[in-house]
Amino acid sequence: MGRPVIVRECRSAFRDDDTYREERVKEACGVVGIVAAGRSVSHLCYDALYALQHRGQESAGMATFNNQQITVVKDNGLVSHVFAETTLRALAGSHIIGHTRYSTSGSANWTAAQPVYRSAGSSGFAIAHNGNLTNTTALADEAGIQFTSMLSDSDLVAELLAREVDAGISLAKALGVVLARTEGAFSMVILEAGEIHAVRDPYGFRPLCLGRFGPAEQPEGWIVASESPALDVVGATFVREINPGEMVSITERGISSEQLLEPAEGKQKLCIFEFVYFARPDTYLMGHQVHTTRRRMGELLAAQSNAHADLVMGVPDSGVPAAEGFAKASGIPFGYGLVKNRYIGRTFISPDQDKRAATVRRKLNPLRENIEGQRLIVVDDSIVRGTTTREIVKMLRDAGAKEVHLRISSPPFMNPCFYGIDTPTRVDLLAANHTTAEMNAFIGSDTLEFITLANLRSAIQLDGECCDACLTGSYPAPTPVVLGTAGSRW
Ligand code: SF4
Repeated sequence: MGRPVIVRECRSAFRDDDTYREERVKEACGVVGIVAAGRSVSHLCYDALYALQHRGQESAGMATFNNQQITVVKDNGLVSHVFAETTLRALAGSHIIGHTRYSTSGSANWTAAQPVYRSAGSSGFAIAHNGNLTNTTALADEAGIQFTSMLSDSDLVAELLAREVDAGISLAKALGVVLARTEGAFSMVILEAGEIHAVRDPYGFRPLCLGRFGPAEQPEGWIVASESPALDVVGATFVREINPGEMVSITERGISSEQLLEPAEGKQKLCIFEFVYFARPDTYLMGHQVHTTRRRMGELLAAQSNAHADLVMGVPDSGVPAAEGFAKASGIPFGYGLVKNRYIGRTFISPDQDKRAATVRRKLNPLRENIEGQRLIVVDDSIVRGTTTREIVKMLRDAGAKEVHLRISSPPFMNPCFYGIDTPTRVDLLAANHTTAEMNAFIGSDTLEFITLANLRSAIQLDGECCDACLTGSYPAPTPVVLGTAGSRW
């Protein structure tokens, strides 16, 4: 097999300006893998990545295998910015993996875009990763690798895999050896000559599902993706989720599965925030449609923390289903109070503008006639630093709201996440350092209430099968730092 051809290496200074980053928790990535002979897999991968764009907007990439060669195309920017029709046509082949990225470790620069390619043995492989490893320093030290901030945890895994393959074992076996030593969260797709592997960590922190092209009796191809809408959009049929610790390997001849890593003791630990905020509402996770669970959160929140009001509205997008549920359960009319601009790409803020206000106002604008003189119940999914929420409340008051009663469909966010979500350290988490009354005063709402953990678990109906460490401080897998008490950095 020949060496890979990087057909495009555009480097742009994209989003280095921290004013771009909203003060909300961020999803870490979306991954796709497709094997489908006779189809244009690059166009299918494009559509699937497009459906996963919400999981990361910093960079996008694909790697294909064709004519004994792996070709990687990746760049900073949205999927639609990175891939032109001519590029997709050039990415021929029947095996492809794809990635959309939001960085939680490593740099947000072009060099951290994925898939990551490594040559190894007589050929090479490419990796696309969603998650975050928690023992990178120890792994790098053990292997004598200098792990700098310019490297991502995916680079490190690629390097460790390449060493095993160079030592003479197959990539599939190398995955078993290397991933058994890693800790943290990973849903990964790996492309090698004529084969794709999809692996999920033993806790199943990040989602990964399997779909099929064609009839069950005679499949015409296979797809794995972070969320089920990526299957819908390419006309594939959902088959099942990849199990925690499982590796599914796909060739043109079909699929095989092995339990590569022992599942963690006890139950699966899917991230609870996939239900609250990250996943698309039309995604199915462990048999539950996300939109339905968000409505139930709103219903339970209303039963728990109603208020006298004229209108229930949600903060777009993920606050809206919970607001619908709140309105239904409370009998208070549901309405829209904020319009979201969905077309935010690369933007600049004038030096004369207040950065924070400009960031929020560029994204959200009030519907004055719905708001003026009204007592509002405003449902949002979470409060992290609180500064964005404060701007939203101010915006609603400026538009004439008489009262603003905030209702949050997740409990107070008290602890940082180490499993693939970008969260501030504990010092910057509003709830970690303030009472609800203090938070209410800081944000400027009339009242502030959070759903209880019991009600959130009840809405999701998967008690014990979700990680909720950022809410409870009970981390199911090892953390990379020693956690301190409230007020400490961690
Ligand atoms: S700590 Fe929180 S954000 Fe991170 S995986 Fe667990 S539930 Fe999700």
